[in-house]
Amino acid sequence: MSETTYSPNLSILSVEDAMVHFPLAYPLLDRLQGKPRKYVQALNGVRLEMQRGETLGIVGESGCGKSTLARAMVGLLETSDGKIRFNGKDISALQGKARRSFNRQVQMIFQDPYSSLNPRMTVGQMLTEALSVHNMCPKAQIPARILELMELVRLPADAIDKLPHEFSGGQRQRIGISRALAVQPDVLIADELVSALDVSVQAQVVNLLLDLQQKLSLSVLFVAHDLRLVRHISHRVAVMYLGEVVEVGDTETLYQTPLHPYTQALLNAAPSMDPNERGKNVSLTGELPSPLSPPSGCRFHTRCPHVTERCRTERPILAQKPGGQHVACHLV
Ligand code: SF4
Repeated sequence: MSETTYSPNLSILSVEDAMVHFPLAYPLLDRLQGKPRKYVQALNGVRLEMQRGETLGIVGESGCGKSTLARAMVGLLETSDGKIRFNGKDISALQGKARRSFNRQVQMIFQDPYSSLNPRMTVGQMLTEALSVHNMCPKAQIPARILELMELVRLPADAIDKLPHEFSGGQRQRIGISRALAVQPDVLIADELVSALDVSVQAQVVNLLLDLQQKLSLSVLFVAHDLRLVRHISHRVAVMYLGEVVEVGDTETLYQTPLHPYTQALLNAAPSMDPNERGKNVSLTGELPSPLSPPSGCRFHTRCPHVTERCRTERPILAQKPGGQHVACHLV
């Protein structure tokens, strides 16, 4: 885990009861029959604080809303309800200079850097463009700044004159990171940053990110489905299930004593985790329900071995427990 001391209670990005519902097509027949329009409930009242200088990991099964949350936090998706605040300001209300400043300060690094890099621009041209658009330094200093960025992401100087197709997947991720760093952001949002890379390359890119986070005091949101990687890099971890955060806490506490039955099951399902470090022996059974018609009450109740009648009707609130974790479960 990162050893940088971050500043607890100094929130840089906060998510307040965020809802993201995607409308489905509304067939004429349904309209004529007066049937309500259907929505995919991708985020359902998510509350989460990202502290200045921390790496916050987000884990959960595919389809749990991790990427939707990441995109909402970087301003690529509007929330249907609730707010996302950057340094206390509602990002949906930012306009003009304030919006451009937010766009510079919160940068996203994508899973597939190839699709986000212009295939006809060399690395040097891409970085020159990023530095010029945001007026990051005088024109004469751009070449020196580009060399600095290459060093930061551990790419050789001759990479500057090459095109994206001349690099490996791991090197392309480094180029994506250098482009994000060119505008000196405060926050990096990394959505499945390394999941398309070979395991050996994954470790190199994750260690680079860890190093950069410490060196530049960045706040990093690290979205991944690999629980070991998330543990390695994160100060705190949030566990998502079907569009909701069910547990959030300090990484080691959460991995050693998971409190929510879903967190326990998720850790149990990870093949390489040390069994002595897990909580109660709960295994994950059944499919993730559809976000089109999620279960009532606690959304995990259809798969939870501890389900009670109350769980089927009453949604548990994410509340702080004596160990410091926040957990949404009636039994904890
Ligand atoms: Fe299980 Fe009930 Fe807790 Fe949900 S609220 S996780 S169903 S015990």
